[in-house]
Amino acid sequence: MPWKGIKDPYKIWLSEIILQQTRVEQGMAYYERFIGNFPSVDLLANATDETIFKLWEGLGYYSRCRNLIHTARHIHNNLGGVFPGTMAGLLSLKGVGDYTAAAIGSFAFGLPQAVVDGNVLRVLARYFGINNPVDETAGKMLFGKLAQDLIDLNQPAKYNQAIMDFGATVCKPMQPRCFECHFNKTCVANKEKKQSEYPVKSPKKQPRSRWFYYLVLEHQNNLLVIQRKDKGIWKDLHEFFLKEELSATDESLIFEAGYWGIPGLSIDVGNAVLSDEFIHILTHQRIYGRFLHVRIDQKVEIDGYTWLSSNEIDKIAFPRLITKYLEMKEA
Ligand code: SF4
Repeated sequence: MPWKGIKDPYKIWLSEIILQQTRVEQGMAYYERFIGNFPSVDLLANATDETIFKLWEGLGYYSRCRNLIHTARHIHNNLGGVFPGTMAGLLSLKGVGDYTAAAIGSFAFGLPQAVVDGNVLRVLARYFGINNPVDETAGKMLFGKLAQDLIDLNQPAKYNQAIMDFGATVCKPMQPRCFECHFNKTCVANKEKKQSEYPVKSPKKQPRSRWFYYLVLEHQNNLLVIQRKDKGIWKDLHEFFLKEELSATDESLIFEAGYWGIPGLSIDVGNAVLSDEFIHILTHQRIYGRFLHVRIDQKVEIDGYTWLSSNEIDKIAFPRLITKYLEMKEA
């Protein structure tokens, strides 16, 4: 973890929010960039939404970014820039759940609170041979209680760090080092040779497939964009005209581009260029995106949409699906 060995609650909080649902290798670069731009929670709180979203761009799960902004401003405006030093106070922060609160609480403030991350779950499931799925409510409660029963109340930070490190380096997901493990005589998984069967997870649901078709209007190197305001995925990020359909043919897309379902819109689609398919995979959704690029001579004005130059486009945040298209378009 980037904050390993440090006691600054801001750095622990920031890295934990970034690393939720993100691999450490990917999250590290974002963490370094955030800390470089905002060395304190007060500086983060004073930054604009656009600046923060732009730094977050590509990391996904944008509700985390909104919670990050909200909590930084709450701490700056209402708590004098100081993180709460109790579990109740930490849990009251938007976007901070049991795991993040326990990490900040034990490492920054020495609170006797067990941290239960993926490493800890694996160690406990294997050692005790627990078959309850770790991602279901009953399992979460069982593992949370067990972890709390085991913690060394006199040195909670050291204990938490030790069990997480043990899971990361000895009781690893693949090829655990049971031959040199201190617990190999009493570990249930080792005795039964069932290490790979723990921890148990509930069967995954099939992701939902969606097809997004974007109309990219360009007038004298400016693009027409809008900020997403609905509550679904990618709220507050920017996009082009979006039409979601189950499936569409090239011909129907180009034909419909002339009005794109927008009352009053009528454009010449003679130079329309349809992109290949881009695929973006989220936890529960698989999104297929195609982009229809049309250069127009007559500028159109449409409610909620803004014409932006390429410089302005570079400063705002788009979903990864769209940045992939823009990168391809510039190449
Ligand atoms: S014996 Fe193997 S499976 Fe059991 S705790 Fe040690 S490393 Fe993990």
